Amino acid sequence: MPARNILVINCGSSSIKFALVNEAHGQFSLSGIAERLGHPEAVLRWQRGGEQDSLMIPSADHRAALAQLLPLVQSAAGGKLHGIGHRVVHGGEHFSNARKIDTQVLEAIRSTAPLAPLHNPANLLGIEAALKLYPALPHVAVFDTAFHQSMPEHAYRYALPDALYRQHGVRRYGFHGTSHRYVSHRAADMAGLSSGDSSWLSAHLGNGCSTCAIVNGQSRDTSMGLTPLEGLAMGTRSGDVDPNLHSHLARALGWNLEQIERVLNQESGLLGLSGLSNDMRSLEQAREQGHAGATLAIEVFCYRLAKSLAAMSCALPQLDGLIFTGGIGENSPLIRSKTVAHLKLLGLALDKEANARCIRGVAGAIQSYGHPRVLVVPTNEERQIALDTLTLLDS
Ligand code: AMP
Repeated sequence: MPARNILVINCGSSSIKFALVNEAHGQFSLSGIAERLGHPEAVLRWQRGGEQDSLMIPSADHRAALAQLLPLVQSAAGGKLHGIGHRVVHGGEHFSNARKIDTQVLEAIRSTAPLAPLHNPANLLGIEAALKLYPALPHVAVFDTAFHQSMPEHAYRYALPDALYRQHGVRRYGFHGTSHRYVSHRAADMAGLSSGDSSWLSAHLGNGCSTCAIVNGQSRDTSMGLTPLEGLAMGTRSGDVDPNLHSHLARALGWNLEQIERVLNQESGLLGLSGLSNDMRSLEQAREQGHAGATLAIEVFCYRLAKSLAAMSCALPQLDGLIFTGGIGENSPLIRSKTVAHLKLLGLALDKEANARCIRGVAGAIQSYGHPRVLVVPTNEERQIALDTLTLLDS
């Protein structure tokens, strides 16, 4: 059977990221983004075989953008597209695995929208548009939360009145599950261990950041909660704050809920602390030049990351390795070394040269000799979504 092609789609409210994944190749045959959807300046950008190109698609909505994408996909896939994998942010308690999309699955995604009001409706827009354009193909939903459905109750429950969980679904769900799952499998391969019989700490550090404790291929705890705001300091998100902060800001400053949510989600984290940028590259450069805010933002980021990893270690029977992934985890020797420096009690220490070598897609072990394994593993959520889609096509 020739190697199959899966189109992976990740829809935001005004964007569609896409990748055409061939099961036999690591590189995407086609990838890109349609941005500013609904605006006069909407644009489709793509890369194919090392070439970049773009097309203005003025005021295109999700469906129009996908229609423009269709001939590109057909040509890159040689006319043979076998299925479509959709990234869906929140699956609530409905989904612990990827699922073929049917009316029941669509209804469950819709009913979970109150838990992810920004993300699930956007994901649904993309799914519905793609179903209309590709009615004959199988469509699969892969959920960011699904991997964490294996967390034990003592890890996923908040210490809140029981009815809030039973009647309103208030619990910890966790996100970035596709990435944590992918890198933990890769890490086990790299270490010559079985993913079904090994224990990992994973740090996904991108614009959003989370940690995860993975035992025998299952998530046992993670730092994000009901929403992706809980846990680590991130690009623009605060991560954990005192829950009374909300009422304090309302009383002391007269802020309403929208203002508080905006500050915590869009104006905090690295951006808020540094007063400069949410981009770690810019902060590392500014720190080199002695910028106090950038220096503080990096210190807080690494200390809180280390604290979260130490907390996650409670869920592990033993530590087979710590994994760094995501744009920061894959590219920043500075953040890796500062974080690991706080984790001496776990016995962790890095080899300076190996740490410096693992950047821009280079995977590898970076621990110093005789210390527990630390791996840099580039994530590939699109590939994992495509593999999940293929698994369901085969079943
Ligand atoms: P992601 O969301 O996974 O694309 O990650 C985005 C984050 O990775 C941003 O904060 C980038 O600044 C950061 N990043 C990418 N390359 C580097 C680098 N060479 N050094 C430090 N941070 C980087």
